[in-house]
Parts: sequence; C-alpha cells; structure tokens
Amino acid sequence: MNSEDPREELARLAGAVGHAARRRRWLGARSERRPARPAPAASAAASSVGGQPLARTPTTAALASANPATPPHGAATRASDVVRPQPNRTERPVEVPRPAAARPLTATPGSPASAIAAAGASSAALAAADAKAGEIRELARAAGDLAELARRVAACTACSLCRTRKQTVFADGRARLPVMFVGEAPGEQEDLQGLPFVGRAGQLLTDIITKGMRLTRDDVYIANVLKCRPPDNRDPTELEKRLCTPWLDRQIELVDPKVIIPLGRHAAMHVLKVEASMGSLRGRVHLLGGRKVVPTYHPAYLLRDPSKKAECWKDIQLAMAELGLGSTPRPASS
Ligand code: SF4
Repeated sequence: MNSEDPREELARLAGAVGHAARRRRWLGARSERRPARPAPAASAAASSVGGQPLARTPTTAALASANPATPPHGAATRASDVVRPQPNRTERPVEVPRPAAARPLTATPGSPASAIAAAGASSAALAAADAKAGEIRELARAAGDLAELARRVAACTACSLCRTRKQTVFADGRARLPVMFVGEAPGEQEDLQGLPFVGRAGQLLTDIITKGMRLTRDDVYIANVLKCRPPDNRDPTELEKRLCTPWLDRQIELVDPKVIIPLGRHAAMHVLKVEASMGSLRGRVHLLGGRKVVPTYHPAYLLRDPSKKAECWKDIQLAMAELGLGSTPRPASS
C-alpha cells in the first residue's frame, strides 16, 4: 500500500535504498570470505592423496586385505596419515613374513638335508642311525648265508618297528634265476604270514611272475627294503630305511642277482641311491655295480591305476631281455 503523504513516501524510499545498499555490501564481503569451490580434477587428486581416506582406493584396499599391518578402511583420515607418500605401501606385500612352513628349503634333491626334511628327523638322529647302521653292517657281513642272515634279521631290534611287528619278513623264493624283486616294506598280510607280497598286491606280482614271465615264485627272489611292517602301512621313515639297509645290502650280495626289479618309487630310489620320480626311473635299464636295475610300478599302485599295467609289462620285458628269457605276450590279467 502507498502513502498519500509525499514526505512519508520519500522517507520510506530512502530507507529501502539504504537497506539494499547494506545487503549488497554484506553479500560482497561474504563472497570474499568463502573459498573458491575446487575444480573436478583437483577434487579427484585430493581423494587419492589427501582429500579422502586412502583405504577407499583399490591399491590400498588390496594392500589392506594382503597385509594385516595396513590400517583398516577409514583409519587413515588424519592429515598426517593421508598426506603420507605412497611408494612404501605398494611394496608392503613382499615385506609380509612367510609362514615357517613356506620358507624355501636350501636342500637339493638327494642331499642329506632333503632327506632330513622328508623324514622329519634331526641330523643328529640320522647321524646316530648311520653309526648304528655301521654296526648292523658288520653283523650282516658276518652272516655266511641267507639262512644265517634271516636269523640275525629276526633278532634285530635296531628301530622301533621291532615293537609293533608280529614277525620279521625276510624273503620268498629260491632265486633259481638271478632275478630279485625288491619292494618297500611288509603290509598287514605279510606281517601275519612272514612272507613278502602275499596280499592283493602280492597276488598281482605272482600273476606277473607266473602268467607274464612264465616262471614260478621259487624261480625268483622277493624281498623288501624294510623287514618289519610300519604301523598302519605308513611310509618308512628315512631313519628306519637307513637302519635296515645293511640287511638288504647283504641279502643282495648273497643272492647275487643279475637283474634287480625295484617295485615302486621308494624301492627304486633306495636301490639306485637317487631321488627322482618313478616316471623318470622306469622304462630303462640302470647299471649298478655290475648288476642291471629295471624299476617298475609297485603292484599296489597298479591295483589303484590299472592303466599303468601296460607300462609295467614293458619294464618286465626289459628285465626278461636282460635275463635272456626272450619276449612273451602280455597276459590278459596282468
Ligand atoms: S625294520 Fe629293519 S632295522 Fe628296524 S627292527 Fe626291523 S629288521 Fe631291524
């Protein structure tokens, strides 16, 4: 509503003009105090260096998951944290200590340290076992024939297997031909009967000898590296093998085979004194002190993987050729 008094109207207009001028001055002063809004690029740079928690960037998040020492998400929000240089963070994963089990071994295959690692035995224990094995070697050498050697083995208490065995398992066969099969250790049936290879795996070995080689078990000689059964058919330890080796070595001397057929990787490595895969050891003839060594698969392995029987048969034929037995067709069941 307008006033009809000209003086009142002039006074009202003067007041309005003054208010507008004061508002313009106030707004101008406020805009000078407010900082300029950052450009988008500047905002992005601030988020990766100092404007936002670094834990939100992919690299830092990955580090946080890989390295427990990295602060949790949102922890690096103080100015002193967020302006910290980044290169050290990207190097953190390689600084994380490895678990003890993942530390690389300095042992090389076949070295004593490798054997110790494989067996879980200390070097002192193995050194003591080697000293004891020296005494057993003397006892074995004193045996003039296989019967005497078998008696000495039956009395052996050199390792803890003597406490769990039912009896020692020395050998089977008469070695009418100079060929010797060497397995790893007796199993349950062998422990009960006192003869090597008499369980299911033993039946397969009998088939290889009779149906494949057209021989009898008496024609060959069958023994194991270990003479006592490891509980629950576990693998023999390095210590047990070292202690029992002198008995087998003397057995080989007395049988004097022209051809030795180790059955399985452990027996092959033990006879050949090497550490290698079965695939690299089988399929060829090795020379060992004037004898021929023809490793092949263990019958127990063939029972688990019958597809390997054809390769086993090739190995047996190699051994037969060394014995001058000639080739025979592969039997259907072996
Ligand atoms: S496994 Fe060999 S060394 Fe051990 S007690 Fe039997 S015969 Fe002796």
